[in-house]
Amino acid sequence: MKRTLAFLAAGLLVLLIGACSGPEPKPSGEPAPGPTPAVPRTPIGELPEVDVDAVLAHTKVLSSDQYEGRGPGTKGEELTVAYLIEQFKKMGAKPGNTDGTYIQKVPLVGITPTPAPLVFKKGATERRLAWRDDVVAWTKHVADSATLDGSELVFVGYGVVAPEFNWDDYKGLDVKGKTLVMLVNDPPVADAANSSELDPKTFGGKAMTYYGRWTYKYEIGAEKGAAGVLLIHETGPAGYPFDVVQSKVSEQFDLVTPDKNMGRVAIEGWITLNQGKSLLALAGQDFDALKKQAATREFKPVPLGVAASMTIKNKLRTIDSKNVVAKIEGSDPALKNEYVVYTAHWDHLGIGPAVDGDTIYNGAVDNASGVGGLLEIGRAFTRLTRPPKRSILLLAVTAEEQGLLGSQYYSVTPIYPLAKTAANINMDGLNVHGRTKDLTLVGYGASDLDEYARDAAGEQGRVIRPDAEPEKGFYYRSDHFNFAKHGVPALDPDEGIDFVGKPPEFGQKVRDHYTQYDYHKPSDVVKPDWDLSGAREDLKVFFAVGYRVAEAATLPEWKAGNEFKAIRDAQLKARP
Ligand SMILES: [Zn+2]
Repeated sequence: MKRTLAFLAAGLLVLLIGACSGPEPKPSGEPAPGPTPAVPRTPIGELPEVDVDAVLAHTKVLSSDQYEGRGPGTKGEELTVAYLIEQFKKMGAKPGNTDGTYIQKVPLVGITPTPAPLVFKKGATERRLAWRDDVVAWTKHVADSATLDGSELVFVGYGVVAPEFNWDDYKGLDVKGKTLVMLVNDPPVADAANSSELDPKTFGGKAMTYYGRWTYKYEIGAEKGAAGVLLIHETGPAGYPFDVVQSKVSEQFDLVTPDKNMGRVAIEGWITLNQGKSLLALAGQDFDALKKQAATREFKPVPLGVAASMTIKNKLRTIDSKNVVAKIEGSDPALKNEYVVYTAHWDHLGIGPAVDGDTIYNGAVDNASGVGGLLEIGRAFTRLTRPPKRSILLLAVTAEEQGLLGSQYYSVTPIYPLAKTAANINMDGLNVHGRTKDLTLVGYGASDLDEYARDAAGEQGRVIRPDAEPEKGFYYRSDHFNFAKHGVPALDPDEGIDFVGKPPEFGQKVRDHYTQYDYHKPSDVVKPDWDLSGAREDLKVFFAVGYRVAEAATLPEWKAGNEFKAIRDAQLKARP
């Protein structure tokens, strides 16, 4: 996908209002092109092992009920931060902050909406949508309340303005003060050559672009001066069921911004598919017909003749949450001022609405496991006879689940200059189902890091594969994205899907099962059937990639044509 500079600039502008934006390197089906960069060839078998028994032990502690689901600003945060510092000290990793601590403070505002109905009114007909069952909404305004007062509803299709695709769902309509009703994901444009497929040249075909993400939808609404944005939830296009949205009725965090987020729409929310359909029926429209039109460039916004009213009262609190950071100092006098940054978010959803009587969202896979991996990769670095030339930063970030806030804060307020940051390797959820013959790289083909990973996996007799579910937009859904959009080559690995000794469909099956039953639910706990033998190999690859980057003569680069390359080149040029 070709991205415009205007879109990139818009992405940088919204940084400060706590939103996640920017372009995406498109996962390509082909092997990453180009030769392998010259890297020291310590065979992977001679590098220290990553101890997955210890990873499991960390995961058990961090995902135990005592840690209360690791919500930012809770007792769970205090325990988690203390645990991480203790582990960093134990392994002999130095404080990662230049102030001599293991802490980077991240100022957040926590906003808890009070349940309220959403009322649609057309003439004398009134329809009340029930909080949580039918509608999940919030305001990011740092204010006591926010209101839609008879705001006129307009259906704007996918709500997208994408000049590079000659796409504008607004067609010049002034939507100031109105409430926009939108579909999620990119407009699914059929391929002219084969109508059963999506056009790969428009919005990346099957792969979700940033235009498809819910965060984009609220941002474009704000840009248009709308009062509210309501997304119609559909499980397929969203990439997750409505109960994942429902977890947002509890306290949500944002970075504290100078304008107190008043530049955003007053009310952001989701309604269920059923309520979306019946809203359009109330307006005398047909959902399916409008959805079909919305997949074309000719689509025009449809004023619904229905008014929306809702008042959301907020409970507010500000907290300093914490990124926890440790350093393994490089052994080369000059290169030790450059960094390879490993990240894993320590936070999860905390305590929330009960599911089957359980209110603690333990987040074992997501992301106690990744934090366990981060700790043990760090420990493996301390087992080397000589530290690598460049320094290693172990960064456990906060508030990923609230919109990648901890990594966003680090990327705009880095402890060490991003121009001196060689690479980011992110861990968000480890493979707990055994060995795989492959390793997935989301956004495959984006940078030299893919070849580092390909080589390391190859030495294990394994292969790299691109993201199997590009339509779900995973590239935007974890912390590496904040490094990427600020120029730092970032690796976003995911578990493989081809499991050793298992039928071919096993990988997709366990994935789907996790998404449906455990993802962002209290049931994401350590299970008796967990098998970390695959994670052992994956973590070894992540270790080898970081080690070899830290030893290499040159820094890894984005591939030619990658959208982040220009940012990186300018950044490197400007460095002292
Ligand atoms: Zn996660």
